[in-house]
Amino acid sequence: MLFTDLKLIEPILKALQTEGYISPTPIQQQAIPYILQHRDLLGCAQTGTGKTAAFAIPTLQLLHADRQQHREQKTIKALVLTPTRELAIQISDSFTAYGKNTGLKNLVIFGGVSQNPQVNALKRGIDILVATPGRLLDLVSQGYIHLNHIKILVLDEADRMLDMGFVNDVKKIIAKVPAKRQTLFFSATMPKEIQALADSILNNPARVEV
Ligand code: AMP
Repeated sequence: MLFTDLKLIEPILKALQTEGYISPTPIQQQAIPYILQHRDLLGCAQTGTGKTAAFAIPTLQLLHADRQQHREQKTIKALVLTPTRELAIQISDSFTAYGKNTGLKNLVIFGGVSQNPQVNALKRGIDILVATPGRLLDLVSQGYIHLNHIKILVLDEADRMLDMGFVNDVKKIIAKVPAKRQTLFFSATMPKEIQALADSILNNPARVEV
């Protein structure tokens, strides 16, 4: 199978070509069609399987289509939660690379550094936010971030977020995101606690496993 078989729009196909991507990985082959159909998704996949592109590519395509229809403002329409600064930066770089012909802007925020540059970047307006949970909640509580226009919520490495003690932060964030949304949930392992969290936030999810 090739990326050209996945009903992707030209601006994204072009960017993938620039990246040298030809064939989607198994998680991408399975996940991208469901996400483009607006389904919730439960993905069991490790790092290295191509899971970042599996959620980033269709997220960009859905937001791009919305934009054409509604000429929406630069409010945050997709939120990706991930446990570490390193992962957050990698995910943001992926959105930048795959989305470079779409006009959609992403921003990455994480703790342990000054918040001022992040706040200034937020003020310029962004479509997609990639964040670690603690810094996100900080900026939400200071009124710099509003989560009420989010259409797509991604939880990346959910098991690691739980292991790192982010479960309450994650639950607080989810409570502030509109209930009517598309949720994509990725975890390398599915212990009971993770399955319970997934069950509580997903709506009739498609399941993909690699
Ligand atoms: P991830 O599992 O998301 O951390 O991705 C692992 C690596 O595979 C990253 O360096 C991606 O740039 C690369 N990658 C993801 N999907 C593809 C693909 N379809 N073809 C070639 N490389 C890919």
